[in-house]
Amino acid sequence: MRAKLFWKLSFTYLLLLLCILAAMDLYAARAPRGHLVIAALVIILLGGVMTLLISRSFSARVERLKNFAGRVAAGDFHPLELEDTDDELTDLGRAMNETAARLAGTIRTLTDERNRSSAILRSMVEGVAVIDAKERVVFCNQAFAEILSVDAAGSEDRPLLEVVRQADLVALARRALQSGEHVQGDLVLGTVSPQNFGVTAAPIPALDAEASLRAPGIESASGGPREDVKQGAVIVLHDISELRRLERVRQDFVANVSHEFKTPLTAIQGFAETLLSGALEDEKNNRRFLEIIRDHAVRLGRLTDDLLKLARIEAGKLELEFQRVVIADIIESCATTTLLRASRRELSLDVNFPPALPPVRGDASLLREVLQNLLDNAVQYTQPGGKITLSAVTRESEAIVTVADTGIGIPLAEKERIFERFYRVDAARSREVGGTGLGLSIAKHIVEAHGGRIWVDSAVGQGSQFHFSIPLAT
Ligand code: ADP
Repeated sequence: MRAKLFWKLSFTYLLLLLCILAAMDLYAARAPRGHLVIAALVIILLGGVMTLLISRSFSARVERLKNFAGRVAAGDFHPLELEDTDDELTDLGRAMNETAARLAGTIRTLTDERNRSSAILRSMVEGVAVIDAKERVVFCNQAFAEILSVDAAGSEDRPLLEVVRQADLVALARRALQSGEHVQGDLVLGTVSPQNFGVTAAPIPALDAEASLRAPGIESASGGPREDVKQGAVIVLHDISELRRLERVRQDFVANVSHEFKTPLTAIQGFAETLLSGALEDEKNNRRFLEIIRDHAVRLGRLTDDLLKLARIEAGKLELEFQRVVIADIIESCATTTLLRASRRELSLDVNFPPALPPVRGDASLLREVLQNLLDNAVQYTQPGGKITLSAVTRESEAIVTVADTGIGIPLAEKERIFERFYRVDAARSREVGGTGLGLSIAKHIVEAHGGRIWVDSAVGQGSQFHFSIPLAT
């Protein structure tokens, strides 16, 4: 073991001892009294000066080390400049430099970690808040503040209830704190357009810094966690409004489908029973009853076809065979099909499009289906004597096809909703004319799958103009 400092100190004491011995020796030599005193004084002074010089150098070096330790404590990790001397104090300085460098590295890692965590928390769409054992907010991210309309910075260190004013949320957090287990629940915010949130509150041990320093590996005598380790909880809010909306849509859909099936099935059952209980022999009515049964069965078939088509489209299984489609051919074939139906209802049909209509990019049979549906609707919802006009134009990079009628029209408030499945302005009238309430919904899906749009201009009693656009073939 090196002990240079020990030798230096020993040398100083030895020097002092020699000076004293020399002074004593002079005294023993019985030199003249005056000489004796001067010589003794000179020797003691010399010894004193040398001792002072050596001890001052030590205390200056110790002071530098003390200052360095203070600098490190204050967060300045610049290394200490070491002296050339090679003794224990220099070793101590070197060790302190190493400790400071290691400390700087650890602090850098922790800062990086903290920055990364806060960047993640900031960018999360989920609202996150942390509370301590006394239900005071320790932290909340921007999303949490926005969801609950609170000021993120101003909510720290305030009671959760005071910050969020949501008793249900606070109750959930309290249950997590008290039980020490994950707690889940739902929260509905807002009244005009309510939003649904899923809430998870999870306990986190040792939230306060002091406790967290004590906590790792520290257990009570009973072997369990120490009771004085304070708990906190983390609360996470995630928006489940879309999920809830889809659940509602699904429930509505099931209810609608059941309703649509019930009417024809009841009629079929009723007339079949009437026939079986004697009407079969009633020659005046039996044929009529059978026709009613057939009509309802046809309606059920149509409904099933439309539902299957819609299911295929919505499941993304609609296979479009894109090709260059001459829109004029589709217009002409649909017009021919409609002409007979229109004339039966005393409606006139005008077809109007420029001679050189450029081809569009699409699936011919699906586009025909869209146009036929719009024409069928125009026939069904226009009173006898009315007029239907079928036209097409090109604008920029798309072709726009329009079916206009002079029929009953659509109220402004329902213009968007008629494209929803099963939505009808007048359900009884739609059923009467054999409608399923799914035609426009299917048409919208098809047009959008082509990259186009479908919309309507209409006013009650003044007819409707349905338009759809399809991108031109390039
Ligand atoms: P439906 O089978 O009932 O016709 P659609 O989806 O094709 O179903 O149409 C939905 C609803 O939109 C119809 O029930 C009707 O109320 C309204 N509608 C559609 N086309 C017209 C039109 N040309 N004139 C007036 N109302 C229309």
